[in-house]
Amino acid sequence: MTPALQLRDVRKTFGKVEVIPGASLSVMPGEFVVFVGPSGCGKSTLLRMIAGLEAPDSGDIMIGGARVNGVSPARRGIAMVFQSYALYPHLTVAGNMGLALKQAGMPRAEREAAIAEAARMLALEPLLDRRPAQLSGGQRQRVAIGRAIVRRPKLFLFDEPLSNLDAALRGQTRIELARLHRELGATMIYVTHDQVEAMTLADRIVVLDRGHIAQIGTPMELYDRPANRFVASFIGAPA
Ligand code: ADP
Ligand code: MG
Repeated sequence: MTPALQLRDVRKTFGKVEVIPGASLSVMPGEFVVFVGPSGCGKSTLLRMIAGLEAPDSGDIMIGGARVNGVSPARRGIAMVFQSYALYPHLTVAGNMGLALKQAGMPRAEREAAIAEAARMLALEPLLDRRPAQLSGGQRQRVAIGRAIVRRPKLFLFDEPLSNLDAALRGQTRIELARLHRELGATMIYVTHDQVEAMTLADRIVVLDRGHIAQIGTPMELYDRPANRFVASFIGAPA
């Protein structure tokens, strides 16, 4: 099977700091893979290179078997959800969700069907005519997720999407994300510094330690057989 995503010795330096000293990784279609590690370890940089928002200094990025280095974010078949929802305040929920489809020239009827389907998955139907200012933080984040879903991307990229939510809402949204992943059967790459999120959401976890991939494995593997002290302490396993 062709991997949904492959990184081959991807490197990135900012100034004199080697933020990603060489990352290699293969993600299979339908996998939920979580990049976890402390703040500043390079998670966002790695995700932004996959998205095409940042160019690697060297190495290959392959999406669905095609090398995408140099391909613009819009043409990578990805959709990204950020911590800050960045919704357009003057557009309704439906308008925010459909904007990218409209810009891509999708006919109105198709667009409305895609919005209705995503709204159903996210329980946003009663809110479609509201504007972002009339929504709670959790509802705004669901709209941001809906905006990704309507595009039917090959690859979903999430960068700490829940970190602005309070603990109860975070737990609830985490459960919704797991359900969405099952329902969509899509490949998801999810960045967090939260070990609990990683352990509960991931099929496989990639632990980053100052830009190095310290270990890749299922939550059970990491817990039972951490590769080193860093992984053990970060995952909360007995060292
Ligand atoms: P994380 O998402 O894990 O918190 P980041 O990928 O945002 O980490 O950052 C990793 C390191 O790279 C940090 O030291 C950060 O300061 C640095 N960094 C990130 N983006 C830039 C940039 N555009 N220019 C310079 N340094 C950057
Ligand atoms: Mg980050």
